Amino acid sequence: MHPLGRVLAFSQKCRRFSTNVIDPNSIQPKLCVVGSGPASFYAAQQILKALPKVQIDIFERLPVPFGLVRFGVAPDHPEVKNVINTFTKTAQDPRVKFIGNVKLGQDVSLAELQNAYHSVLLAYGAEEDRLLGIPGENLDNILSAREFVGWYNGLPNNKDLKFNLNIEKVAIIGQGNVALDVARILLSPIDLLKKTDITEYSLAALADSKVKEVKLIGRRGPLQVAFTIKEFREMLRLPRCFVNMNAEDFAGLDAIVPNLPRPRKRLTELLMKSISTSKETEADKCFNPIFFRTPKSFQSGEDASSVGALTVAVNTMEGENAVETDVLETIECGLVLRSIGYKSIQADSAIPFNSKRGLVENSGGVIQPGLYVSGWLGTGPVGVILSTMTNAFAVGQTMASDILNNTVDASIKKPGFEFIGSLLKKKGIQTVSFADWEQIDKVEQSRGKEKGKLREKIVDVKEMLTIASGKP
Ligand SMILES: Cc1cc2nc3c(=O)[nH]c(=O)nc-3n(C[C@H](O)[C@H](O)[C@H](O)COP(=O)(O)OP(=O)(O)OC[C@H]3O[C@@H](n4cnc5c(N)ncnc54)[C@H](O)[C@@H]3O)c2cc1C
Repeated sequence: MHPLGRVLAFSQKCRRFSTNVIDPNSIQPKLCVVGSGPASFYAAQQILKALPKVQIDIFERLPVPFGLVRFGVAPDHPEVKNVINTFTKTAQDPRVKFIGNVKLGQDVSLAELQNAYHSVLLAYGAEEDRLLGIPGENLDNILSAREFVGWYNGLPNNKDLKFNLNIEKVAIIGQGNVALDVARILLSPIDLLKKTDITEYSLAALADSKVKEVKLIGRRGPLQVAFTIKEFREMLRLPRCFVNMNAEDFAGLDAIVPNLPRPRKRLTELLMKSISTSKETEADKCFNPIFFRTPKSFQSGEDASSVGALTVAVNTMEGENAVETDVLETIECGLVLRSIGYKSIQADSAIPFNSKRGLVENSGGVIQPGLYVSGWLGTGPVGVILSTMTNAFAVGQTMASDILNNTVDASIKKPGFEFIGSLLKKKGIQTVSFADWEQIDKVEQSRGKEKGKLREKIVDVKEMLTIASGKP
């Protein structure tokens, strides 16, 4: 049996036979969480409910909290970001400490956290992207949707991303919600973005953009698209943009649609109704989903170092699977965005990581008693905030019950942040508290107000740290 399997079996056995439930008021467990996205805050909420005297320390690699809610969710979806209000309440609980600018695997190791705390929850998400692995992929102006999203949302790593929007045709590879987010940002009239929290430099670049046509390329058909109806409706409503699809790709669907599960049925019906929207005459931009095509290679354009075209194989379907034929087509494109999924990394060599699946090995969030994983790091990079919440609630409950049924012994004395804090101090690392973040937040909101925007994000880590230090 794999050693991890033995540990999991042992943990399950402990859970089954443990009968002595501890009085929650009699213990003061010290827990820590790595990452400060939804998977972290939702788990913390559950733990706080179950363990009245717990201390939860949340370590985040950036000086600012909230993960993909800040750096992933599209700027024109402000209502989605309202979850930040609940996360803020959790962070302001006296039993919770936010410690920003601390990166697991660089500033602190998993072993150090395990020594300092009774339990450790890994919730550091998925921050890498997948490659297509086809010839020409290293040409200029081929980027991942992840980088592009990070660029317009002010993720410090992506703020200096270099690419050229002085082109007319864009190919997005992938047909999920992230693909639709980036298509919408590229095709939106600039006035629709001006008041959002989109970064100023991307607003300026998008205002000068020459993009007229965005193709959304998928290996399978209209029945398999991974985007949701809300996101597709937004494309239909975009001013001066018409939606154009190939009617042949929908052949035979009439007979299938009535038997589809309800959400898929409604989405397919809407797709069929929108095969070519009538706004063509007044529109100067086009959104063009293309089905049944597998990317095979990229070719350079007039500029030999930049992408100019994409060769695709035409597919047929066998059941739910796309099967390539020998027929090839060329699609002109001056910019390519790969939107084929995010990928987690092994932040510390002691983490049992499944490189093939790109996630941390776990059973219901348990890696071993005292070590847990929640959110995209444990489930793989799929699902919206709601599904991440469901997962994190369950993991948080498991963490609390493992303490209450003594699977994790919280009577052992643990130093918690006393130890980790001194370690970080020795290394000269400036930590950022939640109150420090609130100062950064204030500055962002007031800079935004001056420009008639929700906020103007600070994109430079040094500047964040200067504001956090209170000595600008
Ligand atoms: C582009 C995009 C748009 C989306 N839009 C929506 C939407 O509109 N609606 C919706 O419901 N869902 C949306 N989602 C999905 C949603 O963002 C995820 O379900 C959710 O954020 C996953 O939460 P998480 O906590 O697992 O990961 P994350 O939100 O990624 O949080 C992980 C945190 O860990 C930190 N971290 C990383 N490495 C380390 C380290 N080594 N040490 C310390 N900290 C670290 C990161 O900085 C980050 O703060 C979107 C996702 C993407 C990618």
